[in-house]
Amino acid sequence: MKIENKILVVKELPDGSPVRIPYFIVDSNKKGPTTGIVATQHGNEFFSIVVLKEFLKIKYPLKGKIIIFPIANPLAYNVKERTSRIDRKDMNRCWPGKEDGVITEKMCHGIFKILNRCGCVLDLHNGNDNILDTPQARLYEPRYSDVQDLVDHLDVPFVLLRKEPLENTLVGCLLDRNIKAITVELGEGKRITYNYIDKGIKIIDSFLRHTGNLSNPQIFKSIPIDYDKMRIVKAENSGLFIPNIEQLGEKTDYLGNLISFPDFSEKKIRTPTKGHILSLWVGGVIARGELLARITKD
Ligand SMILES: [Zn+2]
Repeated sequence: MKIENKILVVKELPDGSPVRIPYFIVDSNKKGPTTGIVATQHGNEFFSIVVLKEFLKIKYPLKGKIIIFPIANPLAYNVKERTSRIDRKDMNRCWPGKEDGVITEKMCHGIFKILNRCGCVLDLHNGNDNILDTPQARLYEPRYSDVQDLVDHLDVPFVLLRKEPLENTLVGCLLDRNIKAITVELGEGKRITYNYIDKGIKIIDSFLRHTGNLSNPQIFKSIPIDYDKMRIVKAENSGLFIPNIEQLGEKTDYLGNLISFPDFSEKKIRTPTKGHILSLWVGGVIARGELLARITKD
């Protein structure tokens, strides 16, 4: 097995310098499928990079090739923000890109041409700043039938099904070209959380067993969740939130405790009904109205 370092050069920034997008081709030197893995379309979601690095340390009996873009959006990554400061475009609304577009669209165009060689692509995301996501696949519901076999083999406990389409996503554009693809969210973008590294490695492992780059695909049971069956919990009071991290992903009505001032009181935050916690605020200080959790309404 050899790992080839490549650079995709995209022109150009206002000072004339190009954007250099690093990517890697993991070549097993054995016959097999070509598969893509994309991470960090959003620059504040760099946790997946660690997962990919740890995955590559394990010696797998790989077949075929894997094309990995650990930092799909270096302009956003360099400033640790969701989008690039040059054009403020959300990369995951710019696919398949434009040859003569603004810089983010040009980056998409270049990456997409390379991903076109793949039979299947995994698009990795993480929770936004201070939001920790339990592993979850995300999909536009009418596309479910296109990737059901992939979902069945993917080691994720939840599949969130969106009723409304998002325009020009990477996964949507790949599916339009009959390239199987799925988005998986896990962990928190800016925090390196060790037990989520293991979960991320298992997800990549299950994905590559499905694609045929590894042997022995396994069946996993995931819970499909409609977006409208999800409760968005906003903080009703400001204070310091202590999240119930142990139960992230589990079924509960207990989200955590809130310490309030000036009385220095501590109160349990509960939801009206039990549900699986999908995302949880781990940022401590929270202001009234900020997102505290996403939890299913069971
Ligand atoms: Zn993202």
